Amino acid sequence: MMTTIIDGKAIAADLREKVAQAVSALKSTHDIQPALAVVLVGEDPASQVYVRNKGIATEKAGMKSIEHRLAADASEDDVVNLVRKLNAEEGVDGILVQLPLPSHISSSRVINEIDPDKDVDGLTEVNAGRLILGKDGLVPCTPQGSVIMAKTVRPDLTGLNAVVVGRSILVGKPLSMLLLAENCTVTMAHSRTADLAAVCREADILCAAVGIPRLIKGDWVKKGAIVIDVGINRVEEGGKSRLVGDVDFDSAKENASAITPVPGGVGPMTIACLLRNTVVAAARRRGVGEIDL
Ligand code: NAP
Repeated sequence: MMTTIIDGKAIAADLREKVAQAVSALKSTHDIQPALAVVLVGEDPASQVYVRNKGIATEKAGMKSIEHRLAADASEDDVVNLVRKLNAEEGVDGILVQLPLPSHISSSRVINEIDPDKDVDGLTEVNAGRLILGKDGLVPCTPQGSVIMAKTVRPDLTGLNAVVVGRSILVGKPLSMLLLAENCTVTMAHSRTADLAAVCREADILCAAVGIPRLIKGDWVKKGAIVIDVGINRVEEGGKSRLVGDVDFDSAKENASAITPVPGGVGPMTIACLLRNTVVAAARRRGVGEIDL
């Protein structure tokens, strides 16, 4: 069987290009330049890289990037007050608080202070509720990217059995809701699932968001299934450090009809979907209506 390797870099580049076109249209037709504000607390090196990359991608799409950096010992109230200030700023369309926050700060309190209509990470309780209720909101980026990728090989997912392994708030739960909205029959699996291999073998779409390198074996994949691997795990092999997914790619691709690689699969989609959410939020907030990307 010919297996399609779903190219996350190419799909993300295509989405970023569409976002840039939408931004350009907002500018020329409505004189609006969408703006994304990112809040970084502390000096975590990985977070600094993520924030820098998000800023570069935002500007490349023609949007304004605003960075707010607070010291690692900033208080919870300092962060909350900054979020409230950004909520009130008319020119700010999206607010993203880079996680993890230092341990003395409640991420949940800070995130839920974000105006849900500016919550471009889709992590507030209001947006989680909208997703469950099937109302227009802002959807978390990684699950959104996962569904876009699946639909590149199968535009209509109606009636398929989807198995999502992992039930985190960031990935597994919203991904399950999105697949339900696509009319899949969804099974949510997790660390207490009995006979995970048998559950996975029922999947027409198998999504893994666990954080365990190569947990999902090739013989857990039904012939012809679409496999979406959200996992990003660093492993040391043969004296080298490399990234692998939650799926054993080499054996899984023998059975899958399509599969996302790691790296170069779901990863690149996350920033692209953040940009998408920002332009969508800008159009809604400023009364231009829905942007279809
Ligand atoms: P998480 O919050 O740690 O959640 C992991 C989930 O996996 C939990 O629901 C857990 O079940 C389940 N699980 C753990 N061990 C299991 C097992 N042996 N069998 C079945 N399920 C098991 O992780 P996350 O934030 O969702 O991230 C998952 C993976 O995606 C990580 O590798 C992460 O790096 C990656 N990720 C990638 C992106 C991206 O941009 N591509 C974005 C976010 C995350 P319980 O609920 O029962 O504990």
